Amino acid sequence: MKKALVLGAGGFIGHHMVRQLKKENFWVRGVDQKYPEFSDIEADDFVMGDLTDIEFCRRVVDQRFDEVYQFAADMGGAGYIFTGENDAAIMHNSALINLHILRACYERNSKNIFYSSSACIYPEHNQLDPLTPDCRESTAYPANPDSEYGWEKLFSERLYLSYARNYGFRVRIGRYHNIFGPEGTWAGGREKAPAAICRKVAQLPASGGIVDIWGDGSQTRSFLFIDECIEGTLRVMRSPHQGPFNIGSSEMVTINQLVGMVGELSQKAVAINNIAGPEGVRGRNSENSLIMETIGWSPSAPLNDGLKRTYEWIATEVDKNHNKSQLV
Ligand code: NAD
Repeated sequence: MKKALVLGAGGFIGHHMVRQLKKENFWVRGVDQKYPEFSDIEADDFVMGDLTDIEFCRRVVDQRFDEVYQFAADMGGAGYIFTGENDAAIMHNSALINLHILRACYERNSKNIFYSSSACIYPEHNQLDPLTPDCRESTAYPANPDSEYGWEKLFSERLYLSYARNYGFRVRIGRYHNIFGPEGTWAGGREKAPAAICRKVAQLPASGGIVDIWGDGSQTRSFLFIDECIEGTLRVMRSPHQGPFNIGSSEMVTINQLVGMVGELSQKAVAINNIAGPEGVRGRNSENSLIMETIGWSPSAPLNDGLKRTYEWIATEVDKNHNKSQLV
């Protein structure tokens, strides 16, 4: 039986990856400092602890795993990443996790590893125009990410590639673009735009109402549903090509359009109130030529399909939690 190690298995993407690997009959060890929030643990073994601690990393990498997936990071949506208030923690914690996990994998000869990077590594100067962002993989340098989160991801990409170059690791890197779906964080300050919008609309009365949106709402993004994120990750991991590859949708929308789509799904009359707030770059879209030409696959599911499933899930969560103080 093949063995996989999933780091960040209590989080959104990690938990979905554990579920998929179990379907493929892997023996799976999940690691995180928290349990999955919305469903039971599905890993064969789940180890709780702090991956910034090298001794803990050594404890969880106590053998050679066939596949290692590294999703653990100090992470959140625009309200967490782009305010500047969490920069030191983001850089310190995520860099330590990557440094220590690679060292532990090296010591156990566990050298087949996927690293989850981000579209946030792309230079700000190529994402100033909301209609024509340039996020081809080859544009990452000269580097100029707009957040410390992006700089740490870029540093860690280079760290993983160094281990491949010098220590015989088989590294694969995906640059995720806004992953969303059921069982993702939807309240509390670390949620991303699709989840925050679904929550705000779900909280409106049946007749509708007004939702606050950070910025003028004409900033553009693309959003990838979790199922295609997992498929893309496995395709990259098992391909002969190292990457980095964009793993994202190329269906670009403005944030105001995204609100309109959620409004239609909810069948509520939703008006937008644009307010000041952290918004990140003006435009971003996944450019999928490289992954298509190299691996022969790129995401193709319509945004609306994933949004429908996500809205339904979040609306149910809002109903279940309507008295809880975690709603913001
Ligand atoms: P998430 O926050 O849901 O999951 C990350 C997990 O890492 C969390 O469960 C957290 O508890 C865990 N973690 C953080 N610090 C830890 C520590 N010191 N020790 C042990 N566990 C720790 O995030 P996600 O959306 O599942 O993202 C997974 C990865 O993909 C992250 O590296 C993220 O930066 C990257 N990524 C995600 C997106 C996205 O849109 N979701 C976009 C780009 C990149």
